Amino acid sequence: MKKIVDIGDSESKQKNRSNIFFSLKNSSKSIPTRYLYDELGSKLFEKICNTEEYYLTRVEQYLLETNASEIVKLSNPTDIFEFGSGSSKKTTLLIGEQFENNPNISYSSLDISRKALKMTFEQVKKINNKIQINLFKGDFLSDLKKVQLINTPRLFLFLGSTLGNFDDKIALAFLTGLRKVMKKKDYFLLGIDMLKEESIITSAYNDSKGITKRFNKNILQVVNKKYKLKFNKNNFEHQAYFNSRKSQIEMYLKSKKEHKIQLPDNSSIQINSGEKILTEISRKFSFKVIQSLLKKSDLKIEKKFQDKKKYYTLMLIRRL
Ligand code: SAH
Repeated sequence: MKKIVDIGDSESKQKNRSNIFFSLKNSSKSIPTRYLYDELGSKLFEKICNTEEYYLTRVEQYLLETNASEIVKLSNPTDIFEFGSGSSKKTTLLIGEQFENNPNISYSSLDISRKALKMTFEQVKKINNKIQINLFKGDFLSDLKKVQLINTPRLFLFLGSTLGNFDDKIALAFLTGLRKVMKKKDYFLLGIDMLKEESIITSAYNDSKGITKRFNKNILQVVNKKYKLKFNKNNFEHQAYFNSRKSQIEMYLKSKKEHKIQLPDNSSIQINSGEKILTEISRKFSFKVIQSLLKKSDLKIEKKFQDKKKYYTLMLIRRL
């Protein structure tokens, strides 16, 4: 197995610890989305991608299948650098296409989940053993600036509509951070889920097999293990609904009863019956909103690729 380079620093780990306790003591409770992705979480996410209801993966896959050759022709990268690669199954379409043009390409992934990086390695290796693969374990928000700068043309990837997990402030921090590491010849391919009929969106986060429910509840096991807590997943139910005012899916764990969670410092969190813990937002974009975010970050759309129903968009982006 290829070596995974841990680029996360201990200072931000310490900060994470106090932030999570703070956000659990707050009257509107939340657990950061990245904790959804441990070994089991990453496996469950892969299963979600294969459910009937989760159209995002299917449509993005289709857009990559039909446009990969044009995307690599325009960007002609020497390194393909992906944020939050998951299993990289879809990405192999781009890497394979560019490998035909240039057998010396490298591929890099920055992901918080060791399991995701392992799956990525297995997938990319299958294209050709000669491709140099760089695996970075870290947070794409706080560790972005540590990513080594190289002079060769790069194609950055942020797929799966993961940008939709960020509110405006965080989205801008990510995009401006990326803009700073982008060179003139670099491209950025961004996958975005568009606003559409509400029932289609809602079903994608409430699959009939209950995989999203397991994925959501698993976050409690992750924080239990990491911070020595004793959340009982049976005390919570999965809830995911569309907030039309904010144009986003909000995923919660809703408490079935009043109970207390002891913290390591001997204080405790009081959780009321019906109280909800936010675990993820997933924004659904209009062009106006995404364009304004890109403009504010000094980025411009060079070309966009959409399916007929306009469910999803791939945007090929450059520096302004
Ligand atoms: N791009 C893939 C996976 C999307 S799911 C796809 O389109 O299917 C989100 C991915 O981002 C997961 O692999 C998860 O482990 C990773 N991730 C989530 N939060 C992260 C963070 N803060 N820093 C780095 N990676 C993160």
